[in-house]
Amino acid sequence: MATTPETSKAAPQRRKAHRHRGEGQWAVGHFTPLNGNEQSKKDDDGLNVRTRIETIYAHRGFDAIDPADLRGRMRWWGLYTQRKPGIDGGKTAVLEPEELDDKYFMMRVRIDGGRLTVAQLRAIGEVSESYARGTADITDRQNIQLHWVRIEDVPAIWEKLEAVGLSTTEACGDCPRVVIGSPVAGIAADEIIDGTPAIEEIHERFIGSKQFSNLPRKFKTAISGSPIQDVVHEINDVAFVGVVHPEHGPGFDLWVGGGLSTNPRFAERLGAWVPLDEVADVWAGVVGIFRDYGYRRLRTRARLKFLLADWGAEKFRQVLEDEYLKRKLTDGPAPEEPRSRWRDHVGVHPQRDGRFYVGFAPRVGRVDGPTLAKIAELAADHGSDRLRTTVEQKMIILDVEQDRVDSLVSGLESLGFQVTPSPFRRGTMACTGIEFCKLAIVETKARGAALIEELERRLPEFDEPITINVNGCPNACARIQTADIGLKGQLVMNDDGEQVEGFQVHLGGTLGLDPAFGRKVRGLKVTAAELPDYIERVLRRFQAEREDGER
Ligand code: SF4
Repeated sequence: MATTPETSKAAPQRRKAHRHRGEGQWAVGHFTPLNGNEQSKKDDDGLNVRTRIETIYAHRGFDAIDPADLRGRMRWWGLYTQRKPGIDGGKTAVLEPEELDDKYFMMRVRIDGGRLTVAQLRAIGEVSESYARGTADITDRQNIQLHWVRIEDVPAIWEKLEAVGLSTTEACGDCPRVVIGSPVAGIAADEIIDGTPAIEEIHERFIGSKQFSNLPRKFKTAISGSPIQDVVHEINDVAFVGVVHPEHGPGFDLWVGGGLSTNPRFAERLGAWVPLDEVADVWAGVVGIFRDYGYRRLRTRARLKFLLADWGAEKFRQVLEDEYLKRKLTDGPAPEEPRSRWRDHVGVHPQRDGRFYVGFAPRVGRVDGPTLAKIAELAADHGSDRLRTTVEQKMIILDVEQDRVDSLVSGLESLGFQVTPSPFRRGTMACTGIEFCKLAIVETKARGAALIEELERRLPEFDEPITINVNGCPNACARIQTADIGLKGQLVMNDDGEQVEGFQVHLGGTLGLDPAFGRKVRGLKVTAAELPDYIERVLRRFQAEREDGER
C-alpha cells in the first residue's frame, strides 16, 4: 500500500492506541496471556519440568513428552530438540515444528563467567563421549553445547555435571541466561575490578529461583572489569562495565537494553556507578522491571530493548530507583575506550601474580569430548586447575608458571590449537547452523572452518584484527551485525539460476565506545561457493585503499 499523508499520520497513533490496549505488561494489570508462550508459562513454571523429566520422560522415552514441555519448558533446563538430519534449508520455514524435530536434544551447559576447573572440563568431556556422540561446541556466550542427547540419559548427565558444580539450569528459556563475565577476572594484571563475587551472588540468589523464572523472553547479562571490555556489553540486556569513580574508586557503569536478532539495538548507559557489593541488587531491579513492565504480547517485541526504546534511559533509571531499589543511584563516569581491538585474550599474557594465562583458538568454537578431556589433562600437567571460555568461542588456561609456558603452547599445538593464530582463525565465529538448529537455512560450522583454511592460504600476509561472523539464519546468534564482515545465511540464486546456500553480506560492524552495526550491502548476496573469493576481494581492496588507522 502506498503511504498517504493520512495513513502516515494515523499509523503511529493506531500503534500507540494498540499498545495502550495492552502489551501484556504485568505491572499495568495485564495478566491474561496474549499468546501460546505466555499461556504455557502461566500453565506451569518452566523449572517444574525437571521433575517430569526425571520421573516420567526419562523412563517412558521421547514419545511420552508433553508437546508443551517438549517445545517450551524443556528449555528452562537447557534442552532444545535438534533438527532432523537431511532437511534442507528451503524447508525450514514451511515445515511444522514436529516435522523438523529430531528425537535427540541439544543440551547447553551453563558456564557463568566462563569459569571451569579441570574436573569440570573432564566431566563435560566424559558426558560428551558417553551421551552426546563426542560433540561439544563452545558458544559465543561462554557455554558448551552438546548434541545427540537422548531424554533417557538426561538424569545421568545432570548427576555427572552437578557432581562437579555445573548445571543446565535456565541455560535457555524465558529467564536469566548465563551471566557472562571477563574470562580473566581476578587474574589479569591490568584489571579495573574483579566482577566474580557479583556473578557468584547473582547465581546463588536468583538462578533457578521462581522470582525470575517467568520473564517475557530471554534475559542476557554481562559483567566485566577488564579494560578491554571483553563481554560484548553493548549487546546485552544488562551489563556492568568496570570504571573508576573519581571519589568512590573502582566499580561498574550500568548499561541496559542491548540486543541483536532482527531488530538490533545497542545498550544505553544509565549514567549510574554501581559498587561491587550492590551489583546483584541492581541486577535484580533491572530484571524486575523486565518481568513486570516487559512486553509480552508479541514475542518479537518481548526483549528489554523495546521497553528502553519507548521509555528512554532517564525514565528507566527513575523507575529502577523509585520502584525497585527505593534509593538513588550514584552518578558515574563512562568507561574509557577499550585498550585493544582484539578482546579475546588469545596468546600468552602475564597475570598479576607473576604466572601466565594462555589463550588459544579452536576453529569456530568446535571441539569434541575426547579433545576437551585432553585439554583438561594438558592444563593439569602444566600445574593449572582453572580454564575459561570466551565470548569469541575461544579458551584460556590460567595459572601457568613461566617455565611451563612453552611446553603448554606446544601441547596445545599438537591438539590442533594455536596460541598465535592467524587473524582469520582468531576472528571467525559461527553459530550452530543447519547441522543441528531447527531455524537454520544454511550450514555454518564446517563452512566457517573451511573459510579459515582458505583465507590463511590465500592471504598469509594479512595481519589486521578482523571479525567474520557466520550465521545460519537472520537470528544473529553469532552476532552478524557487529562483525567487520557479517554473513547472514539465506538461499540465493547462483549463475545458473538455481537456489543454493549463500549469505547476505553486512560490512563494517564494530563494538567498543563507538559501536556501529554493519551495513547491509544492498543487493549483495554471495553463494557459499563464492564466499572465499568474495572475502579475499574485500580484504585485498581494504589493504590497498584504506587510510591510516582505518578499520
Ligand atoms: Fe540457529 Fe539462526 Fe541462531 Fe544460527 S543464527 S544458531 S541458524 S537460530
